[in-house]
Amino acid sequence: MGTVEGSALVARAIQKEGITTLFGLAGGPIVEIMGYAAQFGVRPIGVRHEQAAAFSAAAYGFVKNEVGVCVLAAGPAVTNGLTGAHVAFDNCFPMVILGGSGPQHGRYTGTFQETDNVPMFRGITKMSVQVDSAARIPDYMSMAFRKARSGRPGPVYLDLPSDVLQKQVEEDEVHWPENYFADAPPMGNAEQVRRAADLLLNADRPAMIVGKGVRWSEPTAELKRLIETLGMPFIPSPMGRGFIPDDHPLNAAAARSTLMQGADVVLMVGARMNWMFDFGRRFAADAKIIQVDIEPEEIGINRGIEVGIVGDAKAVLRQLLAELEGKTDGMADRAEEGPWLTAIREKAEANSASIEPLLNADESPIRTFRLLKEIRDVFPRDTIYSVDGQITLGTGRQVLQSYTPASRLNSASNGCMGVGVPFAVGAKLARPDVPVVSLNGDCAFGFNAMEMETAVRHKIPVVFIINNNSGIVGGNLESRMGLPDNYDERVATYTPDIRYDKIMEAFGGHTESVSSPDELRPALQRAYEATKAGKVACVNVISEHMETMITRSTRASALMGY
Ligand code: ADP
Repeated sequence: MGTVEGSALVARAIQKEGITTLFGLAGGPIVEIMGYAAQFGVRPIGVRHEQAAAFSAAAYGFVKNEVGVCVLAAGPAVTNGLTGAHVAFDNCFPMVILGGSGPQHGRYTGTFQETDNVPMFRGITKMSVQVDSAARIPDYMSMAFRKARSGRPGPVYLDLPSDVLQKQVEEDEVHWPENYFADAPPMGNAEQVRRAADLLLNADRPAMIVGKGVRWSEPTAELKRLIETLGMPFIPSPMGRGFIPDDHPLNAAAARSTLMQGADVVLMVGARMNWMFDFGRRFAADAKIIQVDIEPEEIGINRGIEVGIVGDAKAVLRQLLAELEGKTDGMADRAEEGPWLTAIREKAEANSASIEPLLNADESPIRTFRLLKEIRDVFPRDTIYSVDGQITLGTGRQVLQSYTPASRLNSASNGCMGVGVPFAVGAKLARPDVPVVSLNGDCAFGFNAMEMETAVRHKIPVVFIINNNSGIVGGNLESRMGLPDNYDERVATYTPDIRYDKIMEAFGGHTESVSSPDELRPALQRAYEATKAGKVACVNVISEHMETMITRSTRASALMGY
């Protein structure tokens, strides 16, 4: 047997895990990992900023249902990746972040980019540790993958000193762990499942909340069967959409408040009672909560529960369905005619009707709702949307529909702006077979706009759309900032009507610039066609500067808990 280099062991461990894409920005001391990755059949994607490497890896993992992996050079490259760890941690995404660092033998001597990385990642990862020897790299990598994927998923940081990566070790000194995952998902406690079934059978106004935690076992058939046998309306969280198609007749997203305030029994699956669900305060005080989560410590946070079931969403839903078997005859029909579903549907229809005029607005500059309607009508059902920016997100929630699992990406749990472009890059690599649309407010777009070049260079045909309203919160934030009277510098509004499509022109992709509503559909169609032919497209849409969110979406900011 010969010798093998540390960097090669890292790349081989990624390959052995079955992962085929690695995101990073080539630099010392990790550049060889990217090279070896290509040798082992793992495609290295070279991004323009490490934040984007982490974001793209996170989205890739979510869309593909596997662990996302990114590699960061050293020092500032590693700190640039911190936000990605934070996003993955807050959203419970499985991710392995590999960071380079200075040589172990040079600690505290002022080596190039020497940084104490491990403590920086501690609060925002499931594990943050430095690899201590080249021969143990496979051990550490298996630990990282197991931690990232097991129980509640999350990110893991492995710090890789340059001398560990560059060391040559004898192949027979290297131990490759095998079979290091549990292969059966955890089931719920049988008595608690029975109690949950009883509550659902006896509820007058049952409701279900579906969160993105269902991504990992993907219980699409079970979710559908459960709501349909009980006639139970549901609402998805922002990224919990698509696991039950948005056009399911029991979807009550357009009557969210009615559902939350009116339900007497609420089944929460793979979602947290955090700011997104008003910490549970918007449910009736006497509503009975059934919470299903793989993480025991999540049960009962912020709101007392009636039944807490610790287990995997799919396993528990199957148990619940077995428990309900033979006991639900006629329930769905009775629900269809009953007052609960009637009230929800009336409210949903009224809410949908209230935005109808905006969807068809003919004004120039273009209203955001009109832009959204045209996008909705041009792209097919299986489109993955990556949506970013405050106005764009709040309005997009009301108009764009998702019909397939993990097809809706956004800033989700921690409201991180700048995810829209790199999430779309990761999503398209994970699902090259479906269209991917990255819809961004102009502020959100600015964070990672250079990643359009990554998309062009690696031939990742995404349609990037900029809802260009020339500023933060549609340009009306300045009036609320408390700036001195007659302050003559722009702080929260940008140079008006910037031609962001010119950036894409420089990169060599397909470009469109739109400023009137009737140009929208043909431009979007041309962009979509260009991506079908393998080109990356950018559509810059000059939209209403003072756009305000209406009705339900204004609540979002009030819900954040500060
Ligand atoms: P959302 O933003 O959609 O509400 P969150 O990220 O806040 O979703 O919550 C997801 C929840 O799902 C977490 O509490 C996590 O522990 C849980 N979860 C993750 N995987 C599973 C699984 N396989 N089964 C059940 N719950 C899961």
